[in-house]
Amino acid sequence: MVERQLRRRGIHDERVLEAMAEIPRELFLADSLQRSAYADSALPIAERQTISQPWIVAAIAQGLELEGDERVLEIGTGSGYSTAVLARLGREVVSVERFERLAREAWVRLAELEIDNVEIRVGDGSRGASDRAPFGGVAVHATAPAPPATLLSQLELGGRLVVPIAERRSDLLTAFLRTSEGLERRLIAPARFVRLVGEEGFAEGD
Ligand code: SAH
Repeated sequence: MVERQLRRRGIHDERVLEAMAEIPRELFLADSLQRSAYADSALPIAERQTISQPWIVAAIAQGLELEGDERVLEIGTGSGYSTAVLARLGREVVSVERFERLAREAWVRLAELEIDNVEIRVGDGSRGASDRAPFGGVAVHATAPAPPATLLSQLELGGRLVVPIAERRSDLLTAFLRTSEGLERRLIAPARFVRLVGEEGFAEGD
């Protein structure tokens, strides 16, 4: 997975590659999908959601440019797989998931892996986590209709937000860097994501 799906396709941050090599992806999947755990694709989890394709998890993590001492906010815990990767890359992770069942199951898996620098919350992550802000990195695993203003406001100086933004033809995975002069925007890649459903996302059933 690391060589063929990641390194060859532009993932070069060694800390990200190491974290991806270490986290057992099969632990985040149902028994019936174990054999596909390292396939180059997203796979179904409960609540009609998906565990992201490995490359997407790595591209988001790389886009945050974490050095190891950051507090990271994640929106869209899903299976908890990307949470486990981010927990290796920053100091602590606050992860928000809208489905209670997914949050609960992710929490159990992370506990099994003895990953103890993660806090999982149930709710609308599009509003961020103002009580823990500012963050050195914010990772959004679902497509927003526009750059989410509240999440941008919770970035510290030098912090990065990586979020897919919906465009007419595709979702564009985009990184925003907060500088003293404002926000710098950089396109990472086009890709497809589930929708961010919430106050600063799409309406339910939209
Ligand atoms: N990162 C996950 C994949 C997540 S798929 C993994 O590796 O398994 C996107 C997730 O975002 C879904 O679980 C979906 O329920 C969640 N989501 C969508 N809108 C949300 C919101 N406003 N707040 C929190 N979670 C949200």
